Amino acid sequence: MQHDRARATLTPENDGVIAPALPAETNGLPNPGETHRISSRLFVRTGRWAAGWLRAGLRGAIGIVYPPSCIACQAATGEAQALCPACWGAIGFIERPYCERLGTPFSVDLGDGLISPAAMADPPVFARARAVCRFDGTARELVHRLKYGDRTDLALTMGRMMAQAGRELLPDAGLIVPVPLHRARLWTRRFNQAAALAQVVARQSGVALAPLALARIKRTRQQVGLTRAQRADNLQGAFKVPPSARPQIEGRRILLVDDVLTTGSTANAAARALLRAGASAVDVLTFARVVTDGS
Ligand SMILES: [Zn+2]
Repeated sequence: MQHDRARATLTPENDGVIAPALPAETNGLPNPGETHRISSRLFVRTGRWAAGWLRAGLRGAIGIVYPPSCIACQAATGEAQALCPACWGAIGFIERPYCERLGTPFSVDLGDGLISPAAMADPPVFARARAVCRFDGTARELVHRLKYGDRTDLALTMGRMMAQAGRELLPDAGLIVPVPLHRARLWTRRFNQAAALAQVVARQSGVALAPLALARIKRTRQQVGLTRAQRADNLQGAFKVPPSARPQIEGRRILLVDDVLTTGSTANAAARALLRAGASAVDVLTFARVVTDGS
């Protein structure tokens, strides 16, 4: 009975965003053969989502043994893959009005189509950036758990929220490309959180995914603690489109996917490499973004 009551309180808030009907995961969205073949190499673990429909059938039985819990704080919830009301309330969703280029929220609504002073003073290489929420509170916890906890189940929920936040970008996107990790880092961490999120966004939207179209060819220092100029310098020449991937990029508008947008240095460096390889434009979709006052 406890279970049912929790479900009743959660459903109206989460409807269609956090926990859409499970069959949506297998609603026949195309997953082009070639990219699927490549991605299956990267996603040995996450590929298990393909059995999501089977899991849905088993969910009731499993729920008796493992009651569903909040993906951020582990409190009991009514739905699997969901957030409890407290964690949901602690997400700073980014909604209009925001800068059309950077996606940073405006505190005052001055009308549609506005560009922030920051975007005018220092225009990004990418065309548009959008994010689900601010990088604080629950969002910070989710990003951290996804990155270091090897939690593919989190990617499912976060990726669905991203598909929603990117609904204006996705119809224009010809290809989804995740920000790659350097091979050495992928080896130690075994999991690229950006690729896991990109996989879900691709499935939700039906846009083709090319997880290997962009490579990180330089092992960069951790960006934390670096100034904006140092970050840009650190990322100089870090990304490259392999010659074999150029035909996929040429003439297409690319949607670049990452977990967090901080200063935009990584997104700019990756976008520059994609544009050099012939992309017509690059948009950026992240789960969270750092928002500083006045940006
Ligand atoms: Zn919670």
